[in-house]
Amino acid sequence: MSKLLENLNAEQLAAVTLPPQAALILAGAGSGKTRVLTTRIAWLLQTGQTSPASLLAVTFTNKAAKEMLLRLGAMLPINTRGMWIGTFHGLCNRMLRAHYREAGLPQTFQILDTSDQLAAIKRLLKAMNVDDEKFPPRELQHFINGNKEAGYRPPNVEAWDDYTRQRVGLYAEYDAQCQREGVCDFPELMLRCYELLERNEPIRRHYQARFRHILVDEFQDTNRLQYLWLKMLAAHGSETPAAVFAVGDDDQSIYGFRGAEVGNMRDFEGEFKVAAVIRLEQNYRSHGNILDAANAIIANNSKRLGKNLWTDQGSGEPIRVYQAASDLDEARWIVEEIQQLVRDGASRSDIALLYRSNAQSRVLEHQLFSSGVAYKVYGGLRFFERQEIKHALAYLRLLANPDDDTAFLRVVNFPTRGIGARSLEQLQDAARSFNTSLYATVPHLSGKPGVAIGGFVRMVEEMRHVTSELPLYEIVDHILDTSGLRAHYKADREGQERLENLDELVSAARYFMNEADQPVAEGEEALPGDPLSRFLSHASLEAGDHQAEAGQDAIQLMTVHAAKGLEFDAVFITGVEEGLFPHEQSMNDLASLEEERRLMYVAVTRARQRLYLTLAQSRMLHGQTRYAMKSRFFDEIPEALLKWLTPRVQAWSAPSRFGGGQNAAPPYQNESVLAASHRSPPQKSRDLDGLRIGQLVRHARFGEGVIVAAQGSGEDAKVQINFGADVGMKLLMLSMAKLEPV
Ligand code: ATP
Ligand code: MG
Repeated sequence: MSKLLENLNAEQLAAVTLPPQAALILAGAGSGKTRVLTTRIAWLLQTGQTSPASLLAVTFTNKAAKEMLLRLGAMLPINTRGMWIGTFHGLCNRMLRAHYREAGLPQTFQILDTSDQLAAIKRLLKAMNVDDEKFPPRELQHFINGNKEAGYRPPNVEAWDDYTRQRVGLYAEYDAQCQREGVCDFPELMLRCYELLERNEPIRRHYQARFRHILVDEFQDTNRLQYLWLKMLAAHGSETPAAVFAVGDDDQSIYGFRGAEVGNMRDFEGEFKVAAVIRLEQNYRSHGNILDAANAIIANNSKRLGKNLWTDQGSGEPIRVYQAASDLDEARWIVEEIQQLVRDGASRSDIALLYRSNAQSRVLEHQLFSSGVAYKVYGGLRFFERQEIKHALAYLRLLANPDDDTAFLRVVNFPTRGIGARSLEQLQDAARSFNTSLYATVPHLSGKPGVAIGGFVRMVEEMRHVTSELPLYEIVDHILDTSGLRAHYKADREGQERLENLDELVSAARYFMNEADQPVAEGEEALPGDPLSRFLSHASLEAGDHQAEAGQDAIQLMTVHAAKGLEFDAVFITGVEEGLFPHEQSMNDLASLEEERRLMYVAVTRARQRLYLTLAQSRMLHGQTRYAMKSRFFDEIPEALLKWLTPRVQAWSAPSRFGGGQNAAPPYQNESVLAASHRSPPQKSRDLDGLRIGQLVRHARFGEGVIVAAQGSGEDAKVQINFGADVGMKLLMLSMAKLEPV
């Protein structure tokens, strides 16, 4: 048997070696779906059934795509560069670059990321004098993207009421603005590419004839448009459809909020006439206790397709739970624990810190940073999203495409050049009446505004002239100087880090030319587009991933969403609290709650050997201190699997604060007291009838809650209790409340 196939179990082997036909592998976390998919690619190539050029594979994140290329490179002595393996957006971008004319785009079209898109929508509303209270920009963005992801252009959106009709009108105006400016938002990349294939028969036939094998990882998270795109590319319904090989797990569907449809799996099975769904049941990733916890959690969901997972790895260690008094305490403890793991020989990149919401990372980052522990954040405030980098990229975008109004407005007066808001308004009015881009309108502008903004346009033209023959990284270096960006941040006393980031952008460009952008696998065409445009799409699509290339051994920080498909020896899931995980916006309806539970299932199943769940009783989030109870997910895990590292109820007392009369502020805002509390043995406060701050209590009417603050003493003593999302926070007279410790 081929060496490739040696380490597969019987079901995996059957999946890898299926004949070229539609196949669906439906299996739980860590059962080897991705491994099967990658091995199948290698097997198809090795046995000569297909060539690198006639195969297309879709993964969910850039990190996953890179990992797949890496693994493939290790299995076979082939050049994987230039193969069509990437994310949906990445592959669509590539196709659109190659056929920009047919797609109705300028050659150098630029990609708007989510925040650019929001800025463009706000600008549109302003230009059209639309009340942004009636049409909140974010909500409109959601509306537009939702429709694009379902495949609806403005004329296809069903609008039964006036309000929706107006929103559809704005959607159309927004699309017109993007077209004028030569930019595409993320969902537009998908829809444009789909329409290109739909409308242009030669191009469609070309790709249909070319891609004989299409492989899709994380199929459960495809949205409607992506499914239709796959169907089209696979020449579904023709005499010679491509063999589509899809792997997925309904229990890990976590993008429902963005329009993903688990129903696609059912449709796929029916429409592509999948002969037999293959199930994989052995989990090779996680120790038994971790797997048991995951199985127990997900069992609470309804409408599952149903799978069993088992492992022969033994139970392993219990799941460790740490309940901290505050987020700061949580972060401190985690960092101490991480340092211990590293001292014991763990490699940092095998340790992940996961959180439900991006905002949680700040405290964790701060703590890691001040303890000198190397870490890397995926997602969140990514390198290419930092302010100074976006400024620099805006100059580059103007070089590539002067009609990009978003880029124009970002830097026309940055660094300041004395161009006032009035001048810009005049320019925008003129551009609207001529129906041209801002840049193209400038020469027609008279008077003072014409002179001031004309200077900016001349500067950009000069940049274009001087850099036209330079290699990419020198272009970047040049614009940093001539734009005045470097000088601007040099003059800023706090600009040092930003200056370093700008230098890092030059390195990123150099790196991009050397490594990421080399052509190409055997029998492949060169990647389309000029280096600058390719680099700019890379910046929009692959935001952040560049830093990881440094190969530094660093702790991995990311949201649970970003962790999908990945695995680590040790995983910390932080903030496992009601309101945070499950998220408060998802607690009130069953469908969203089930999505939160799948998210928890994804989080738990990332761990190989060691899993930590941490929570804090108080937390600063979005500028407010919040108090929370432990997450309901704790109740779904069998108690025997958990090891509570602190007393379940955090013992705490702060006598100096009690009896103070007025002071209802929660004591653990005071950090020094907090630190002390965490180390000193629990004390009881007589004032509170033996109850303590942080204690879990039961109230006859309100149920279980956590005491978060106390005020007054004796007969006047009052306690503030958080009874969770349904009941909320209550201030109760201690003498009347009849609280029972739980
Ligand atoms: P997820 O649902 O989280 O994406 P998955 O089903 O894609 O998980 P993989 O990531 O492919 O699972 O595999 C999980 C781990 O198990 C990997 O480390 C993989 O190398 C390992 N593994 C898979 N199959 C085998 C096998 N037959 N023998 C040994 N190890 C295996
Ligand atoms: Mg996988």
